[in-house]
Amino acid sequence: MIRIDARAKINLSLDILGKRQDNYHDVMMIMQSVELSDVLTFREQEKEAGIQVISNIPGLPSAERNLAYKAAALVMETFKLDKGLYIDLTKRIPIAAGLAGGSTDAAAVLVALNEMWNLGLKVPELCALGAQIGSDVPFCIQGGTMLAKGRGEILEKLPTMPECFVILAKPQASVSTAWAYQNFKADNVEAWADTDAVIAALKNGDLEGICKHLCNVLESVTIPAHNEIAHLKRLMCKHGALASLMSGSGPTVFGLVDDEEKAEYIVEKLSDIDNVQVILTKTVSEN
Ligand code: ATP
Repeated sequence: MIRIDARAKINLSLDILGKRQDNYHDVMMIMQSVELSDVLTFREQEKEAGIQVISNIPGLPSAERNLAYKAAALVMETFKLDKGLYIDLTKRIPIAAGLAGGSTDAAAVLVALNEMWNLGLKVPELCALGAQIGSDVPFCIQGGTMLAKGRGEILEKLPTMPECFVILAKPQASVSTAWAYQNFKADNVEAWADTDAVIAALKNGDLEGICKHLCNVLESVTIPAHNEIAHLKRLMCKHGALASLMSGSGPTVFGLVDDEEKAEYIVEKLSDIDNVQVILTKTVSEN
């Protein structure tokens, strides 16, 4: 049996450069792994049983529409394998939240099956398979602090972010990533990302500099539809976060803090709000 902790991500910066002919957008993102993880365990079973994904979340798709299932099916198809596989999926990462929960599960499946079935795939080959499932999967395979370009699948390693505490606040709403990108209009963006400034701050190990330049242009789409995001951002800062931003297409808001006591204080303050799930986690330098 193999067990993998599949980490969530936040975006320190998310910029949209334009729309492409294939209907995706060209993006420029700085992605950061956090400790919060789903837990996946894998075991082979008799081939007649096929691929089974059993999770702790009622209503989560269990067959083709589950990204973990999709990743397993892709491996079997690519390597012409006729096997049965049982995947136990404990979800801890909020779903449809902007934290790459589904993508990280798919990444975990690729990494696990490569090991379990001795497929001999190196990281670039795993990432090429991952990109067929979703744009964030290659990042989730590697983790850490990365610059993501193209539709998110072209990656460059960045200096590790100074370790800090991350408070996640997930309002009840679910946001579809496709919806957010489809409704993006450059004219509605109030502040554009300065990716170079964040990279410079990362190079200097300057947490304050990173915090000063946090920016996500998709806030211009998701916040008007879900006002509680702006409210949560304000509350994070009011209670002591160095900075706060929406992650990915939202609606999760994160706050960054360099001190554990302060982080616990913010968690306590936000936990009183109805219909908001609050999670304390921290940045990690690798998977
Ligand atoms: P991203 O940040 O990459 O846009 P997200 O965190 O916003 O991702 P997910 O949690 O990946 O969104 O969920 C998006 C959709 O994918 C949900 O509607 C969910 O039903 C579906 N889905 C399929 N497989 C999974 C999985 N293993 N875990 C979570 N969601 C999944």
